[in-house]
Amino acid sequence: RQGVVVITGASSGLGLAAAKALAETGKWHVVMACRDFLKAAKAAKSAGMAEGSYTILHLDLASLDSVRQFVDNFRRAGMPLDALVCNAAIYRPTARTPTFTADGYEMSVGVNHLGHFLLSRLLLDDLKKSDYPSRRLVILGSITGNTNTLAGNVPPKAGLGDLRGLAGGLSGPNSNGSAMIDGAEEFDGAKAYKDSKICNMLTMQELHRRFHEDTGITFASLYPGCIATTGLFREHIPLFRMLFPPFQKFVTKGFVSEAESGKRLAQVVSDPSLTKSGVYWSWNKDSASFENQLSQEASDPEKARKLWEISEKLVGLA
Ligand code: NDP
Repeated sequence: RQGVVVITGASSGLGLAAAKALAETGKWHVVMACRDFLKAAKAAKSAGMAEGSYTILHLDLASLDSVRQFVDNFRRAGMPLDALVCNAAIYRPTARTPTFTADGYEMSVGVNHLGHFLLSRLLLDDLKKSDYPSRRLVILGSITGNTNTLAGNVPPKAGLGDLRGLAGGLSGPNSNGSAMIDGAEEFDGAKAYKDSKICNMLTMQELHRRFHEDTGITFASLYPGCIATTGLFREHIPLFRMLFPPFQKFVTKGFVSEAESGKRLAQVVSDPSLTKSGVYWSWNKDSASFENQLSQEASDPEKARKLWEISEKLVGLA
């Protein structure tokens, strides 16, 4: 039978490119989990995805109620779940004041990490039930959260500290808390994104430690390359948006097209040779995949455990 894959944020960029790549194989039915139904419908059409090869379901990761509602709707649709891709993200690189999710958590970490944390935990039951030969749960990572790389050393550097801001509910200074995971007083949108990506990579490894052996599910993360043309950079200053793609193409040579990045993500979902669990995949210049090293913080098991426990409380699982 066809596999069924849920991809969050499939209405643009990498998520859309991967949805297209997987649907085109004819081996996958893609559930596009998106906050803007009409935008997703238009995007699928203009990407040339065949009718019937995908289903669009509403999901707003900035609301934990919406996450739960999505899981109910997905189950009601009667499809099995064979792969889940936590891809959606927001990036507010120039923001100096926080915005908040429906549940009152700082938006970047709320959407990129907490929404996906709840979604993964709930849908794990569905993945366990699937009879598909290779079931996978993929969470997008990033080089920018990895301080063992050049890009990861561009300030402000990622760092979760002792997680005191997260433990305090990421509620921001107006509620006598902090909007930053490390508890910093000042909000920094660029750092909040990088921190959320560390959370994504730590969560993938903690899922692997807790569930891989018993369930056989493959847990993976990846850095697909710098897809400098996606909507992720929409809130950046215009000069940056103009110079970033050629800079990545000609100077760092880390540039990758949306179509190529979509193929990379599709590989992590479905390639029979990428079944190893707990891996952070990257690609070299010849576009061959390899197991990459995470920074010390992004692979710290103690931090991953602490992050897991605090996140469980914040999303209402503990
Ligand atoms: P895009 O901005 O193009 O796509 C992000 C997607 O997330 C959009 O579909 C967006 O929906 C969706 N989204 C945002 N907020 C929410 C929400 N509250 N609920 C549901 N969906 C939401 O960015 P990319 O394709 O570049 O990014 C995809 C992933 O790749 C991210 O995880 C990012 O961290 C990662 N990544 C990207 C890199 C790059 O160079 N671009 C490099 C490394 C990693 P909408 O269309 O409605 O705005």
